[in-house]
Amino acid sequence: MESRPPIVVGAGPAGVRAAATLAAAGLAPIVVDEAPASGGQIYRRAPTGFTRPYGALYGFDAAKARRLHEAFDGIKGSIDYRPDTLVWDLKHGALHCLSGGRSREVPYRDVILAPGARDRIIPFPGWTLPGIYTLGGAQIALKYQGCAIGRRIVFMGTGPLLYLVAYQYAKAGGGIAAVLDTTPFAAKRRAVPGLLRGGSTFAKGLWYVAALHARGITMASGIRPVAAEGKDAAVSALLYRNAAGSERRLACDAIAFGFGLSSETQLADLAEIPFAFDPVQQQFLPERDLAGRTPVRGVYLAGDGGGIAGADAAEIGGERAALALLEDRGHAVNGPRVAALEQALRQIAGFRAALEAAFPFPADIAAGMPDETILCRCEGVTAGEFRRAALALDADEINRAKAFSRCGMGRCQGRVCGPAAAVVLAAALDMRPEQIGRLRGQPPVKPIPMGVGS
Ligand SMILES: Cc1cc2nc3c(=O)[nH]c(=O)nc-3n(C[C@H](O)[C@H](O)[C@H](O)COP(=O)(O)OP(=O)(O)OC[C@H]3O[C@@H](n4cnc5c(N)ncnc54)[C@H](O)[C@@H]3O)c2cc1C
Repeated sequence: MESRPPIVVGAGPAGVRAAATLAAAGLAPIVVDEAPASGGQIYRRAPTGFTRPYGALYGFDAAKARRLHEAFDGIKGSIDYRPDTLVWDLKHGALHCLSGGRSREVPYRDVILAPGARDRIIPFPGWTLPGIYTLGGAQIALKYQGCAIGRRIVFMGTGPLLYLVAYQYAKAGGGIAAVLDTTPFAAKRRAVPGLLRGGSTFAKGLWYVAALHARGITMASGIRPVAAEGKDAAVSALLYRNAAGSERRLACDAIAFGFGLSSETQLADLAEIPFAFDPVQQQFLPERDLAGRTPVRGVYLAGDGGGIAGADAAEIGGERAALALLEDRGHAVNGPRVAALEQALRQIAGFRAALEAAFPFPADIAAGMPDETILCRCEGVTAGEFRRAALALDADEINRAKAFSRCGMGRCQGRVCGPAAAVVLAAALDMRPEQIGRLRGQPPVKPIPMGVGS
């Protein structure tokens, strides 16, 4: 047990820095990632054989991407790296890892969970039509495969990713019909003093907006999606209401949408870490301290998987969590370095709060979701069916509502529909989302082939 190597789940910015810190201390961690290469979401590497330069792939973040890739490549020989390996369950002190069609149990003494985040969506009528992607999905098509999702794309939603992905498409020569933000302009303006704490990150955001304006791209704030319309079995238009309340129809052949990010918390849940509602991020998050320690001994959290804070915080948090693990194993660590990392994390948290104020999750859209909207696409449950099941059977807790309606019971296990379903339920019962609880994590945390089990 004492000699068991620590395990890092995720090789994004948080996982890479955690692994590098452990390796520098003479430990040889096991690093598991379902992706074929390290880098995570923001610094996702192009597939072998693609030759686009760093500047084209990562823009302003090219130098950071290169540094992170080089850091990981530099330790690959001294760690046990397991790419293409999905951790689909965690129980009784072991990770259940699926690779090459086989599942193996990997016991752990200490594990740093750094699984990142996913797009947070709110279903709207027509959102399951072919041609509609999340913002992250649209970005992956461009970044990883060099493909655009359409020739006349509407970017819709809110959050920094809205402008970043639209900018990346514009820069790559993609056709953009419009960039439609659900946040009113006044809310963004009010958040400016707090956003200034973000320094160059805020400046990058302004640059993306200015570049979109300079290209003459239609942009609007304070909109509300009404419906996606389809023709020939694909999306052909977005119907929305502008800030003044007038309905508009915008022809398009693709929509990319999203409303911020949700932390991937299922493994933390299976590790039995307690959760608390975070009023800033409007989601339940696993408890951890600034160092990444959780109330469960031997389980640490780093990066967006413990709360959305961005790539820089993920790198810092990864290093800090690894240092916490080392301290807990009795290693001496550099005190001033620990203090500097924690100070940086505190500073980023201040900026993050301002970002959440600038791009708040538009809960009213979810609360007012029309009954006919497909809420859970895995199980084909509409918002109306979900509301009726919950009200008729007195389900004032989200897991009961799931059991009665099957919403969140399909392949995604509520990772996609869960955040919006919580708001739909809370609104139907005239309660607050934090009062109706959160969907419990269940294995497999992501779909696995039939026949794989433990
Ligand atoms: C789709 C998407 C696109 C984004 N694009 C940008 C961007 O362009 N610019 C920007 O500033 N921010 C972007 N963000 C936010 C940014 O990615 C994060 O802030 C940052 O990458 C967080 O780093 P991380 O290490 O915590 O997580 P990630 O970078 O997400 O890395 C997590 C890693 O864990 C692995 N993983 C997850 N679950 C498992 C599991 N069960 N088993 C095994 N491996 C697992 C994943 O494959 C991934 O490699 C994006 C986020 C998303 C979701």
